[in-house]
Amino acid sequence: MAQVIADRRDIDFVLYEQLKAEELSQVDRYKDFNKKVFDMIITEARNFAVKELLPTFAEGDREGLRFANGQVNVPECFHRAYELLLEGEWTSLMEDPAWGGQGMPTIVSQAVGEYLYGGNWAVMNYGGMGHGTGKMVEIFGTQQQKELFLKKLYTAQWGGTMLLTEPQAGSDVGALTTSAARNPDGTFTITGNKIFITNGEHDLTENIIHPVLARIEGDSPGTKGISIFLVPKIWVNADGSLGDPNDVVCTGIEEKMGIHASATCSIALGGKGQCRGLLLGEECQGMKIMFYMMNEARLGVGFQAFNYASTAYLYALNYARERIQGRDLAAGKDLEAPQVPIIQHPDVRRMLLGMKAYVDGMRSFVYYVGQCLDREHLATSEDERALYKGYADLLTPLVKAYCAQRGFDVCVQAVQVYGGYGYVKEYPVEQLVRDCKITSIYEGTDGIQAMDLLGRKLGMAKGQVFINFLGEIQKIVAMARQNNELAGLADEVEAAVNRLGEVAMSIGQNAMSSRFKSAFAFAFPFLEVMGDVIMAWMLLWRAALARQQLTAGPRKKDIDFYEGQIKTAEFFIHTILPTTLGKMNGIVKCNGAAVEISEAAFGG
Ligand SMILES: Cc1cc2nc3c(=O)[nH]c(=O)nc-3n(C[C@H](O)[C@H](O)[C@H](O)COP(=O)(O)OP(=O)(O)OC[C@H]3O[C@@H](n4cnc5c(N)ncnc54)[C@H](O)[C@@H]3O)c2cc1C
Repeated sequence: MAQVIADRRDIDFVLYEQLKAEELSQVDRYKDFNKKVFDMIITEARNFAVKELLPTFAEGDREGLRFANGQVNVPECFHRAYELLLEGEWTSLMEDPAWGGQGMPTIVSQAVGEYLYGGNWAVMNYGGMGHGTGKMVEIFGTQQQKELFLKKLYTAQWGGTMLLTEPQAGSDVGALTTSAARNPDGTFTITGNKIFITNGEHDLTENIIHPVLARIEGDSPGTKGISIFLVPKIWVNADGSLGDPNDVVCTGIEEKMGIHASATCSIALGGKGQCRGLLLGEECQGMKIMFYMMNEARLGVGFQAFNYASTAYLYALNYARERIQGRDLAAGKDLEAPQVPIIQHPDVRRMLLGMKAYVDGMRSFVYYVGQCLDREHLATSEDERALYKGYADLLTPLVKAYCAQRGFDVCVQAVQVYGGYGYVKEYPVEQLVRDCKITSIYEGTDGIQAMDLLGRKLGMAKGQVFINFLGEIQKIVAMARQNNELAGLADEVEAAVNRLGEVAMSIGQNAMSSRFKSAFAFAFPFLEVMGDVIMAWMLLWRAALARQQLTAGPRKKDIDFYEGQIKTAEFFIHTILPTTLGKMNGIVKCNGAAVEISEAAFGG
């Protein structure tokens, strides 16, 4: 049967052959798991996703949301899927079982997530956002807050959100005006208007817990003066029972380009002066606490984009194998020659292999970052913890922004493979393009991610994290070079990684000079070339493992898979990576036109 959503053979390759996930069961924390259990859970997730979630994907898009009298109704078919999601306890795979989680390692939950989120991101996100809210409560909340909220959030009986954005405070969160006034009982009265709030209101759960950024009256302007509050839609009494509605009103939902089934809400807090919130953590620590969730959410958004790409690739691949059109190029003008499936045309193969390269590369990359998080948590020394935390911090803006960009490109390419059929709603890929676009915008636009990379992440630990990261790539170059057949590819990747080091040094210096504005105009191109080098690294790593297997004599059914790994690396490194080197030259030149051109000279 054709693979849908994600290629299971490839997931297994990344988990077990590249990242050795089964070794996790040797660690005390994961001793109840082994490869057989991991496999079983992933298979169950796939069955659930294909049978129950995927059919709701197009239906949810077409039916959309209904808004009336402050209430949002999700598409009808979401209700059963959501019930099954809760029944199957799929919402908090990594969390502590004491709070309703499954206690699984990150990378295995990523494999499960590929199917679930790939099946229908919107349904999953209604259940999954409680995880982010809950995580902040688990780390920064009081014991009472944990007991009141945590289990309900992790098990998705209650929804979670994140309330940052206001009309005048988008990328510049510090400009927010929502206020918090102290009450004698220790709660705060919250007043303000938030916009663009994902899942801010819906009818899937009896309650929604909103983490709200607001400024306590008298606190300083900007991000420094921001605190964070837990604001339940329905007040939660001290004994855990539900109280009165908490003056949290959805005033409207957005009509959007994509993700039609995901409610994007305007929320009025305290319109009647009766909205209460509980301070989470310390006063004025709101940004620090929210960042904890946002970093996770940024990884989640990159993962979301990758899911769309993986799904789009498999749709396009299956279509290309079935669609008969045109004759083999070698048939020339012979009208007697039979028509062939479009996968036989060189240009279609170019598109498919480019898509495969990004999907495979992104899968390895996002799982690698998941493994860094696992290693950070399992570290037995401070040095080890710092090493993996450093990698995760450095790579988070890349997972978010690079996957958002390339994920979108892959979806667009899928439409191209389908031709006219890709452009019509009868086929699934146009929805993937529309849905994927949001990933480059929310959780901090890709431009903001690039500034984070250049302005903060490159210089972490005086640049040592970045240097160590380049060293990780060099290790794979050395491994690949052990095999003569891959030596050429290894040389190309080595040249690219060395050049990336030079480019980073150059843009870093420019960013600290009088040319800093020009340097920041190249922040995103820098993020892109770093992402490309990461793709080359991951694909070379895959090719090196595949070469070893082919030399050792693989199972017959694996030969095509391993040969595919080598061809994919060859394609990316010889065809796409040279353009990356050209872009690197542009970054080093650091031409100032984008900042020097006057506003009038833009024309219009
Ligand atoms: C569907 C959807 C769901 C959302 N969900 C949520 C949610 O759940 N919770 C929430 O709080 N918010 C949410 N948002 C808001 C989202 O995070 C913001 O839209 C995003 O951060 C950008 O803010 P903005 O739209 O005001 O754009 P702006 O901040 O006005 O940005 C416009 C452009 O200018 C660029 N820009 C802005 N400032 C700078 C700068 N200093 N340097 C360089 N470039 C800059 C941006 O990169 C962008 O290209 C959602 C938005 C959408 C569309």
